[in-house]
Amino acid sequence: MHPPRYSQASLQDFVDCRRRFFYRRNLNLNWPAANIETADDHEQKILAGEIFHTMIHQLLIGIPPNEINSMEIHPYVERWWTTFLNNIPVAKTGRMHPEFVLTTSIANSLLIAKYDLIHNVDEEYTIFDWKTSKTLPKEGVLRKRLQTRVYLFALASAGLPGSSTAIRPEKIKMTYWFSEHPHQAVTIRYSQEQKLLDETYLEDLISEISRLKLIDEFEKTDNRRLCNYCEFKVLCGRDGQTPENQIDDFGFESDAEFFLGEDEPSPES
Ligand code: SF4
Repeated sequence: MHPPRYSQASLQDFVDCRRRFFYRRNLNLNWPAANIETADDHEQKILAGEIFHTMIHQLLIGIPPNEINSMEIHPYVERWWTTFLNNIPVAKTGRMHPEFVLTTSIANSLLIAKYDLIHNVDEEYTIFDWKTSKTLPKEGVLRKRLQTRVYLFALASAGLPGSSTAIRPEKIKMTYWFSEHPHQAVTIRYSQEQKLLDETYLEDLISEISRLKLIDEFEKTDNRRLCNYCEFKVLCGRDGQTPENQIDDFGFESDAEFFLGEDEPSPES
């Protein structure tokens, strides 16, 4: 029997709403959006985000920008791309590992991290993640996100292929770069102390998931604002709970848009 696999996205689902985790990860449900207007917007943002990530990947593997620019691109992407080219946040020195996947084991499971870029100069490692949201999250919010914890922990634990040892956490940092806020990148440094905290936290989370079996054990979130961006809101009877125009007042909840279109590894078992 294969060990269960988890990504930052699936663990974030569990933390945000256990019922959403159950629908997405245990049942592999893909529920249609509540109305066509929302669906169109959602799909457009996902598509634009994917194109933007692909273009950066092409640039990082050496394709000249003028050849990438020759593609017909989405209007959202055109602006993000121009911003990126004018503010490239990665130094040309060192080794690039774009669109890189690492797997490490924890709590009898596999933890999978798919990175936009790992940049390595000498013994220093920087994880880059490209974001296209209008929202600029606070550093404290980003530090708590599963993406930050999983990405830093997985790199420190697994190291890069070809290196015989794990990487010292103090040599790793993670930079979120925002196409709508190119001069306000957020960088989070790692430490041995934080790695131990993350290990315990992730073990507890995965153990908790493995104990739950039945749908009723996967409780719906009490935070109904999260339902606004959820594809299952009709299924859950949470449709129309919070007007869309109130969401920006709620800090991180508005960041559902922030993570929209993020790449995910294939579904976990
Ligand atoms: S609609 Fe709300 S309660 Fe239902 S799965 Fe989505 S976030 Fe959870």
